Amino acid sequence: MRYRKLEKPLRMKVRMGDTVLVLSGKDKGKTGRVVAVMPRENRVIVEGVNMVWKHQKPRMVNQKGQKMQMPAPLFAGKVMLVCPHCDKPTRVGRVRRPGNDGKMRQYRICKRCNELIDAQK
Ligand SMILES: [Zn+2]
Repeated sequence: MRYRKLEKPLRMKVRMGDTVLVLSGKDKGKTGRVVAVMPRENRVIVEGVNMVWKHQKPRMVNQKGQKMQMPAPLFAGKVMLVCPHCDKPTRVGRVRRPGNDGKMRQYRICKRCNELIDAQK
């Protein structure tokens, strides 16, 4: 891997499927869906953000080399979660609430509207 790996995977504020706002870099101001999180690298991959050309060499005789555009990982601190309730970029808190089975679970909460970000299970 190109990035320094951490000893322990971080507890990421952003999860797969979240919508995030990019705060800095060439895609500043863009929003996109998170397609992957890399807790050991503290990075996320966001759809349509930080696109890079990947050059693929021909692997077989009858295959052509090609250029493909794909999103590259970006530092997780450069994105902010967009709350699905108030539709604004927000900081994330954590709360413990009982789930449907009565067991306590941790949920992420929006610091702006105090709504749960994760669906209550
Ligand atoms: Zn909110």
